[in-house]
Amino acid sequence: MSYEPVIGLEVHAQLLTKSKLFCACSAHFGAGDNENTCPVCTGMPGALPVLNREVVNMAILAGLAMNCEIRENNVFSRKNYFYPDSPKGYQISQFDEPICVNGRVTFLFENKDQSVGITRIHMEEDAGKSTHHGEFSLVNLNRSSVPLIEIVSEPDIRSATEAGEYLRNLRSILLYLGVCDGNMEEGSLRCDANVSVRKKGETKFGTRVELKNINSFRFVEKAIEYEIGRQVDLIESGQKVVQETRLYDPDKNRTVSMRSKEEAHDYRYFPDPDLLPLTVDREWVGRVSKNLPELPLAKMKRFASEYKIPEYDAQILTQSRPMAEFYEEVAVKSGNPKAASNWMMGDLLRVLNEEKKEITESPISRTQLADLIKAIDSGQISGRIAKKIFEDLTEGPEAATLSKMSVGEVIKTKGLAQVSDTGAIEAVIAKIMAANAEQVSRPAGPADPF
Ligand code: ADP
Ligand code: MG
Ligand code: ZN
Repeated sequence: MSYEPVIGLEVHAQLLTKSKLFCACSAHFGAGDNENTCPVCTGMPGALPVLNREVVNMAILAGLAMNCEIRENNVFSRKNYFYPDSPKGYQISQFDEPICVNGRVTFLFENKDQSVGITRIHMEEDAGKSTHHGEFSLVNLNRSSVPLIEIVSEPDIRSATEAGEYLRNLRSILLYLGVCDGNMEEGSLRCDANVSVRKKGETKFGTRVELKNINSFRFVEKAIEYEIGRQVDLIESGQKVVQETRLYDPDKNRTVSMRSKEEAHDYRYFPDPDLLPLTVDREWVGRVSKNLPELPLAKMKRFASEYKIPEYDAQILTQSRPMAEFYEEVAVKSGNPKAASNWMMGDLLRVLNEEKKEITESPISRTQLADLIKAIDSGQISGRIAKKIFEDLTEGPEAATLSKMSVGEVIKTKGLAQVSDTGAIEAVIAKIMAANAEQVSRPAGPADPF
């Protein structure tokens, strides 16, 4: 292919704070319609917003994890547009003074470290939700003013699969930090993709199209892939790509025009006079930085070198924090990190996949898996018996009872211990030979079929 795609992603992540961005209403999903509302988040005249400090903590943490510069001067601005589920007639966001700039997310892609630049991360409030019922529409403002961060990448991405990997890693970082639950289907993580194409070797970017409404992980790559093809076809047939916003239709796997550049909003941003400029001093950043956990890439590299497992395995084992903690405990307790990795990558992930379970619901505990490995390594049981015990514990008919026992108890109850006391084995052999003296005295012949 003589064309090269250029892609930049804008990701909205809903922050896991207890309360909303500018009021004390609960930010949790699932309450009855309009139950989590007050004069501030329903946009009543004269109601005043008060900034939730925890939102700033989480935004700083995300910025630090993505190697951003945390800016001292922050301003909240009004982004003006009318929408029925945005009762104030504007959204409070950050414009020219965002909290984080100039960052980078690094992840393993095609077996090497790949970095995507982060232009900025800013804080903003979410809108409410409209539902349409034929003749009328309803507005639910529970989500109004729930805190979001928007993470804008540089146009550094060069393929649909790279965009998918970037997004998966971004999600994994946010989950490690505990600032977002990462659920794309429920909208806690939303992605807009900006796509353009250019002839290979060209230094200038082509005209970009913004794809909105990509609400599942699977569709991010498909939507981008489709859009790249559409743009290449346009250029090849002598037409031009026009700058516009398009929507992805997963049923038909195609994108359709939503609005052109001419119809683009003029948001008339200006500083919100109801909110003071926010100063994020260096002590504040210092305090937050103490909560920065070891991140997926660093953990992956440490697992690979400390436990001598392939980077590929280490990457899978560090995809989520609970998975990494499970692995590390089994690796340390069993004293055999390689075997711990093999059991998890093979048998355990297969069982979890089949039963659609998370590692936190693992049918075998960390201690049981570690004990199982130790039992093989000490010669108490064979590898074959260990597989049998693993199956009994995780998916056999007695799994519910057996999984409450220790591995030692299972071995005992089921009489599975391998006898390696040679004296005991010799005694059994002697007894059998004595009882079968006739056969023993017969010379062994090649004709004997047994
Ligand atoms: P807007 O607010 O209109 O969406 P931004 O300046 O915030 O515009 O840019 C949005 C995204 O578009 C960024 O992620 C950026 O990397 C990406 N982008 C900019 N130019 C191009 C281009 N020519 N091709 C692909 N992506 C681009
Ligand atoms: Mg945009
Ligand atoms: Zn409220």
